[in-house]
Amino acid sequence: MTSSARPFLNRRLAEFGTTIFAEMSALAVRTGAINLGQGFPDTDGPEEIREAAVRALRDGLGNQYPPGPGIPELRTAVAAHQQRRYGLSYDPDTEVLVTAGATEAIAAALLALLEPGDEVIALEPYYDSYAACIAMAGGTRVPVTLRPHDGAFRLDLDELRAAVTDRTRLLLVNTPHNPTGTVLTREELTAIAELAVERDLLVVTDEVYEHLVFDAAEHLPLAGFPGMRERTVTIGSAGKTFSFTGWKVGWITAPPGLVTAVRSAKQFLTYVSAGPFQYAVAEALSLPDSYFDALRADLLAKRDLLASGLAEAGFEVFRPAGTYFVTTDIRPLGESDGFAFCRALPERAGVVAIPNAVFYDHREAGAPFVRFAFCKRTEVLEEAVRRLKSLPV
Ligand SMILES: *Cc1c(COP(=O)(O)O)cnc(C)c1O
Repeated sequence: MTSSARPFLNRRLAEFGTTIFAEMSALAVRTGAINLGQGFPDTDGPEEIREAAVRALRDGLGNQYPPGPGIPELRTAVAAHQQRRYGLSYDPDTEVLVTAGATEAIAAALLALLEPGDEVIALEPYYDSYAACIAMAGGTRVPVTLRPHDGAFRLDLDELRAAVTDRTRLLLVNTPHNPTGTVLTREELTAIAELAVERDLLVVTDEVYEHLVFDAAEHLPLAGFPGMRERTVTIGSAGKTFSFTGWKVGWITAPPGLVTAVRSAKQFLTYVSAGPFQYAVAEALSLPDSYFDALRADLLAKRDLLASGLAEAGFEVFRPAGTYFVTTDIRPLGESDGFAFCRALPERAGVVAIPNAVFYDHREAGAPFVRFAFCKRTEVLEEAVRRLKSLPV
């Protein structure tokens, strides 16, 4: 308390407190448990890209403030990537902006595009920074809940349509979706696009897992649907695609008016960041398809290892079509409270996981679900599975 007996944290942020990741990671350290909570790889990305960053540092590239929109080499590489993968054309000079990871892109987009009181529709469960950034921007979040259906969490399009009001300004979409692993289908994205056009909504779409899709799933960028390019801010990041989550190099692609707006907010958040890493990521984005194929194959094998192990240990498993994460239902283990289960799991089985309820406004809708990350070395996942199989079913 201050001398005026007023709490330090303002009302907009009071509900957010400390993230669950801090609590669970501390628990992992204290108990020596295997941490499948937070989604970061336990091995680094390609050696040649690490070397590119070293070279940039040594050559004095990016050691001083890089240009506000990002270095031209990276903006050109981002535009070329969108063209090569999806046939989407963006002008590197006016339609690409480099950010301090996707996290800053989300914050800057919401701070730039929302007026206080504007409603933002987000798919629930949602990535934890969405709620806080909507709150910092003075917006009101309106969750639309993804619900289990035929082994995956799916969007109810009628529920989405019903959530739009006269105050709705923006749809905040995430595909492939963290934490559920859902990849929105062509039909679902078509319906979202039609709704956005009909109600004249802006769309911010977080596509940081664009390269991590499995089986028959396909990542389709929302900006490629009819009427969407002009109203869509697409967010990408090097962290997940190149296994360098500490570098914090992200970007947006959008038409010039939206890029200018987002840059207005971004310039007062970090102004610029990650100078030498921007050079390395420009090279990374130009890696051949074989890199992206190998990344996907590696994570697919890890998904299967963990998903099958969790099923054998008695969990109901939602086998993800994308991302780093597998969501489970703990009810077959005779449990129903994901929070209590995750707090006890390090002691009971030596593994840390995250209760999905933290990603919900409707906590009860997420109560029995628990998320495990599989972006870890094979032997780590094997040991985690061995330990989880000791749980009584
Ligand atoms: C990891 C993650 C981010 C943050 O990306 P950074 O580039 O590390 O800031 C954003 N959105 C989702 C859905 C994520 O999982």
